[in-house]
Amino acid sequence: MNAVRGFKDILPKEAKRWSHVEARAREVFYSFGFDEIRTPVLEKTGVFTRGIGEHTDIVEKEMYTFPDRNGESLSLRPEATAGVIRAVIENKLHASSSLLKLFTIGPMFRHERPQKGRLRQFHQIDAEIIGTSAPLSDAEVILSAWEILSGLGVVDARLEINSLGCPLCRPVYREKLNAFLHGIQAHLCPDCQRRSAANPLRVFDCKQDCCKEALRQAPVMKDHLCADCAGHFERVLAYSSAFNMPFTINPYLVRGLDYYVRTTFEMVSARLGAQGTVAAGGRYDGLVTALGGPDLPGVGMAVGLERLMLLIADKDGGKGNGGLFVAALGEEARKRAVSLLHSLRKTGLAAQMPYEEGKGLKAQLKEADRQGASFALIVGENELETKKLILRNLVSHEQQEVALDDNTAVTIRELAS
Ligand code: ATP
Ligand code: MG
Repeated sequence: MNAVRGFKDILPKEAKRWSHVEARAREVFYSFGFDEIRTPVLEKTGVFTRGIGEHTDIVEKEMYTFPDRNGESLSLRPEATAGVIRAVIENKLHASSSLLKLFTIGPMFRHERPQKGRLRQFHQIDAEIIGTSAPLSDAEVILSAWEILSGLGVVDARLEINSLGCPLCRPVYREKLNAFLHGIQAHLCPDCQRRSAANPLRVFDCKQDCCKEALRQAPVMKDHLCADCAGHFERVLAYSSAFNMPFTINPYLVRGLDYYVRTTFEMVSARLGAQGTVAAGGRYDGLVTALGGPDLPGVGMAVGLERLMLLIADKDGGKGNGGLFVAALGEEARKRAVSLLHSLRKTGLAAQMPYEEGKGLKAQLKEADRQGASFALIVGENELETKKLILRNLVSHEQQEVALDDNTAVTIRELAS
């Protein structure tokens, strides 16, 4: 039996690197004052049709939607924001705090064509700031993604920012865009011909060359912002500069979700090829009311974990588990070694010993090597008699004696870390 297409196992070596990346993200979030929230992977379908929008690729083509045994339509979450907002409203989190800074890390599901950097179960590191429309919060959300990437040594991702306007200025602009699209219909791909009627801004998201070419002369939102939106955009850019984040303004950057307003951004790496976007996000001031909550503004971002892993894949990988391997020779020594193993682990050191009894030293050291241990501790009858154990560095092959007393575990912990 094989795993479902587009669903991938994360094997032990990789999982170790994943926890390291997740730990780094948590550090960044806690330093920014974010709290963690964990929401279910399954929601009522309405959370996403209302939260993401009916006429979006995600809802129209990519969602795993099915009736459960009672006939209720449920969907696996394709992104985190809608579920987080649903949880905020349902648990009235906004009632006890007018400003919510939340992060979540977990799997998302989209029925797309699997390829490099595109899976059907993938993972996101997600952050949301709910309850303020101040430009500094937009810049902080972007900065949190930036810090996660740069903290992991990813420095080649390009930050692109745009503004999508608001319900005041966007409809005016949309009319202009519609008129333009009407004139170039024949040059657009069938998808965009359909989009230009239902959700015209989405044509900028099209990856087809014919559409890109045809849209070169199109009017862009950035040139049609109302005074408030223009002011907001300017402040976000100023704060981004103050945070030392170099950016480019990309007037063609749009988002696949209907409720996005004003700030939208992406971080793109040329090393990822066609699936270049490693992080993306934006402001969604209408979303909380669309999901039945109070009129709270919000801004959020998501980092694609698989794509991030591709960017750091060649760094610090391949090592074993490190740690210490206890090699005992003889029954008495083994008894002593077992209790020492237990004390060593309590000091926080990763320590192992062979399960099988009666193995020779050579065989045990071979096993230590296979386990990727960095140190071996040798406990034999001789060592018990002289009360001196041998600690061998398996990388440099140097060895030293360690006194066998009440302090042995702590001493070894210091020597072997
Ligand atoms: P794309 O244009 O690549 O399809 P998107 O606009 O659909 O991206 P978002 O909804 O903005 O993606 O999701 C945020 C991030 O999640 C993306 O930038 C990407 O890193 C990651 N992501 C999205 N879909 C997938 C997928 N199917 N497999 C792996 N990662 C994904
Ligand atoms: Mg997509």
